[in-house]
Amino acid sequence: MEKIKMTTPLVEMDGDEMTRILWGMIKEKLILPYVDLKTEYYDLGLLNRNATKDQVTVDAANAAKRLGVAVKCATITPNRQRMEEYPELTEMWKSPNGTIRAILDGTAFRAPIVLPCIRPVVKNWERPITIARHAYGDMYKAVDMATEEPGTATLAFRGESGVEKTLCVQTVDGPAVWQGQHNKEASIRAFARSCFQYAAAQKQDLWFSAKDTIAKVYDGEFKRIFEEEYETSYKAEFENLGITYFYTLIDDAVARAVRSRGGFIWALKNYDGDVMSDMIAAAFGSLAMMTSVLVSPGGTMEFEASHGTVTRHYYRYLKGEKTSTNPMATIFAWTGALKRRGELDGLPELSGFGERLEAASLKTLEDGVMTKDLLPLVEPGFRARGVDSGEFLDAIAARL
Ligand code: NAP
Ligand code: MG
Repeated sequence: MEKIKMTTPLVEMDGDEMTRILWGMIKEKLILPYVDLKTEYYDLGLLNRNATKDQVTVDAANAAKRLGVAVKCATITPNRQRMEEYPELTEMWKSPNGTIRAILDGTAFRAPIVLPCIRPVVKNWERPITIARHAYGDMYKAVDMATEEPGTATLAFRGESGVEKTLCVQTVDGPAVWQGQHNKEASIRAFARSCFQYAAAQKQDLWFSAKDTIAKVYDGEFKRIFEEEYETSYKAEFENLGITYFYTLIDDAVARAVRSRGGFIWALKNYDGDVMSDMIAAAFGSLAMMTSVLVSPGGTMEFEASHGTVTRHYYRYLKGEKTSTNPMATIFAWTGALKRRGELDGLPELSGFGERLEAASLKTLEDGVMTKDLLPLVEPGFRARGVDSGEFLDAIAARL
């Protein structure tokens, strides 16, 4: 066939270990034969981050900002153990995802890949639930302390102009614990914008939940900013798309989510998102089937798998073993990026290719051909056969 043309490149961020191996296989077997692929390539593998003093991560993030679409392979975040494993490392480089998120000012959305033969624990969930977790502030940038005697704590703010604001937190009659937390207007607004942008791109309803009946000022501010952004910038677009935005209390949202059929985006404050994203991931089945997309308030999207570099499989691969590592989330990172590129550039063939590749991948699983991590998750009575990664990708290519 004649290869599908691209006009604007997308940013390709290569990574580490087993996912780097899968990355090459996915391109070779599923993308390059069909798409005249245009990418700006950045090697975010640990050794190249080290060789460039991590400049490559910054360059890749800036390229994503410029080109609007990126796809990223999982990468090693070095810790003490990795410093021993790679003695050439000159520094314990920071998490690439953290660096990219700081540059794009983005929010990460996590969504499970769902299919009929692997039912979520909650039986009525038919479509994925996507979690958007605010990634700044609250408890994660709080200070806390313990005190030993009766006394009074106050909350004090001193403005640069000299203005002062003081509140009594509590007078206690014995030992106590205290916490001071904050969030920033600009960060909440960027979070809200990313959520509205992504909901519009996905054509799915957006929920936002907090506890403004109790934290009237703090959570009230989150609720107000979301409402303000919706009314001034997104309402018309949402109405055109036939999707809705709604705010509800966090406890009501939890109850509604469990009773829902799925298929919506759920925006959550930092702590709520931390908790709920693990609950949703576990309920839908497997980390290997969880995708992630970082969305900047300006609409730049960076797609990736939620899982890491699958180190254990990589060491078996290095010994010459064939591994059964699940490439689904990495494939869906590529299809997400190709679909977005196609949409932004008005290339329906490119978006259509992304959709066909997703359909072929799902069909392969529905035909009972899957990597071994999924075998214990399938519905009773469903006949499935475990294959290695290469065989799985070939089976997808045959259906594609
Ligand atoms: P991991 O790579 O997600 O793997 C943990 C285990 O989960 C694997 O050993 C494997 O279990 C299973 N697993 C995960 N993905 C799988 C897949 N696609 N197919 C089959 N099984 C899969 O987490 P980790 O071992 O904690 O982290 C390894 C490295 O990844 C670390 O250096 C960390 O810094 C990095 N990391 C990067 C990102 C990112 O770039 N976004 C995210 C998380 C972690 P079995 O071994 O039992 O088969
Ligand atoms: Mg968590």
